[in-house]
Amino acid sequence: MANPKYAFIRGEIVPYDDATVHVASGAFKFGTAVFEGLRGYWNEDQQDMYLFRMDEHMQRLEQSQMFMRYEEIIAGGYVAEKTKELIHANGFRGNNVHIMTTTYVSGAGGPGMCGPIDLTITAMERPRSANVLEGVTAQVSSWMRIPDNAMPMRVKCNANYHNGRLATVQASADGYVTAIMLNSRGKVSEGPGQCFFMVRNGKVITPSTSNDLLESITRDTVLELLAEMGIETVERDVDRSEIMMADEAFFCGTAWEVAPILGIDKVAIGSGSKGPITSRLQKLYFDICDGSSGQHTEWRMPVYAGSNAKAAE
Ligand code: PMP
Repeated sequence: MANPKYAFIRGEIVPYDDATVHVASGAFKFGTAVFEGLRGYWNEDQQDMYLFRMDEHMQRLEQSQMFMRYEEIIAGGYVAEKTKELIHANGFRGNNVHIMTTTYVSGAGGPGMCGPIDLTITAMERPRSANVLEGVTAQVSSWMRIPDNAMPMRVKCNANYHNGRLATVQASADGYVTAIMLNSRGKVSEGPGQCFFMVRNGKVITPSTSNDLLESITRDTVLELLAEMGIETVERDVDRSEIMMADEAFFCGTAWEVAPILGIDKVAIGSGSKGPITSRLQKLYFDICDGSSGQHTEWRMPVYAGSNAKAAE
């Protein structure tokens, strides 16, 4: 899709091409930045866009900034307001939107710099991908997930993403869509930018958050929705060999939504097609995100008609 008209940087909405950072900044040189990827879901009937679980994303953004010892914490409420203003300015209607909100060290200096801090926001139209709808293949990566006591994935720091990139590039060179990363104990951690779930004997199992993974908001959403569907969920260690025995497997994340895994290391998972629990969950997830389902209104922040609805509640 074409570039959007506007982006946000240094406190204002600017032409998209002007949203640049200095080459001497800590963010550019050392990846001293934290971010949130978010989705805006367009609902044609309601003529509105919904930001999915904005409050939780903003809470995590504040926590990441705090962990980085930034000299200034940019408040989540401010970021949410500016995100809505940017969507209004771009006039996005009719498509889903992918948003990145990043707070970064804009000043020059060494890796230990803790400021000055700036906020940048980009938003672009991004329709749902075929990978999400139809499913993906994955390779168990030979790259180990970075351990929590080295570079914690719990903190959504840009520099962490080099680790997942190694796995993604390797997977793609080897003919897979994505990767599954193991941690320093050899247990399943997560995908490069998405969490891992599998179904065995009717139960849904996912690695616990002590497995060097991001405390994903979609993971939390999925666990809650499965419980509401009456399906038992278990958070625990998952062995590499166990994932091959799964009846179904899927990834989840803001970008990945709920994406079936069709095969791992060229071995079909279950029937090798989208499984029944994954299908039901995926449909429910889509309907909740775009407001087709009336459930969980608290997870949807309206951008247009109801832009003041949150404050009025
Ligand atoms: N793990 C990693 C490493 C990620 O980057 C993401 C995407 N933010 C996820 C999992 C999924 O997290 P969320 O559901 O909060 O988007």
